[in-house]
Amino acid sequence: MCEKGRFAPSPSGRMHLGNLFSFLLAWLDARAAGGRMVLRIEDLDPERTGEPWTSLLVEDLRWLGLDWDEGYAAGGTCGPYCQRERTALYDEAFQTLKELEAVYPCWCSRHQRLAASAPHPGEERDRGACACRKLSRAEQEARAMVRPPAWKAAMPHETISFDDLCQGRQQFDLARDCGDFVVRRADGVYGYQLAVTVDDALMGVTRVVRGRDLLDSAARQLWLMRLLGYCAPVYGHVPLLLAGDGRRLSKRERDLDMGALRERYAPETLTGTLTTLAGLPAPAGRCGPKELIQNFCWDKIAKNDIVTEL
Ligand code: GLU
Repeated sequence: MCEKGRFAPSPSGRMHLGNLFSFLLAWLDARAAGGRMVLRIEDLDPERTGEPWTSLLVEDLRWLGLDWDEGYAAGGTCGPYCQRERTALYDEAFQTLKELEAVYPCWCSRHQRLAASAPHPGEERDRGACACRKLSRAEQEARAMVRPPAWKAAMPHETISFDDLCQGRQQFDLARDCGDFVVRRADGVYGYQLAVTVDDALMGVTRVVRGRDLLDSAARQLWLMRLLGYCAPVYGHVPLLLAGDGRRLSKRERDLDMGALRERYAPETLTGTLTTLAGLPAPAGRCGPKELIQNFCWDKIAKNDIVTEL
C-alpha cells in the first residue's frame, strides 16, 4: 500500500512557527515512509477562512521546501482539495449517519459558529449531550417547522483505543471524554470532525500527523470512520510549541508568524532549528527538509510541549 500523509491547514491567518513545526514533522514522517503528501485546504468556515491566507500558506510551504504531490495547486484524482467544494461528499456521509441514527437534531444555538473549525484549546466549545437528544419524534417535527436544526453526533459510552505514533497507547470513553459534537450547523455548513473524516478516508490518507491538541479528535474521527465503513489512518500527535511565557502560539496573536520569520531566518535555518527542537539529530550546518529525512525516527521525538525562544 502506498503511504500518504497530508497538510490540512485552515487558512484563517498566516502560519506560525507551531503550524510549521507540525507540518515539517508530517512531511518527514510521510517521506521517511516513502509516501506521498497531499495538501488540503480546510476552509469550511466561511466567516474565518479564505484569501489572502490560502495563497500565503502555499507560498510559505514552498519557501520552506515542504513539497506535496497532490492537492491544492497540484491537482490529483481525489479532488476537489478545498473543503468548501466538497459539500456533496459530506452530504452523502451525513445521510448514512442519519440512517444509522448516529446523529440527532439540535436547536441549541450556543457555540455552533465554532463547529466548522478544529477544536483548539482556549476556545469555548459545545461539550456533551443536550436536552435535544431526548426529544420525541413529534417534538422534533414541531421544532423543525419553526427553525432548521443543527445536527449533533450522539456519542455512546464506548471506549476507543489506538496507538499514537508519538503519544503511545490512547484510550477514550467517547461520551465522557469527547461528548456530543456538531456535525452539521443549522446553516448547512459541515463541522470539522465530519469533513476531516470523510476527506482523510476518500483522499486515501494513511498517516495523520498534527498537533497534540487534536488527540481527542482522533477518537471522534475513528468512531465516524467505523460507522461510515472507512479504513482508518494511523495518527501521530506531536507536541505544541509554546511562547517563552508558556502560552500556546496562536494565529490571532500573530505569534512568530511566517512574515516575521522569513525576514529573520533562511529556510534551512528554520527547518534545522525545528528538527533540533523536536529532539531529532540535525546534520551540522544548514539543512533543508530533504537532508533531514534520514534521521527521522518517532522514538526520538519529544512528547511534551516545547517552549521556544526563537
Ligand atoms: N485544519 C486544522 C487546523 O488547522 C487541522 C486539522 C487536522 O489536522 O486534522 O487546525
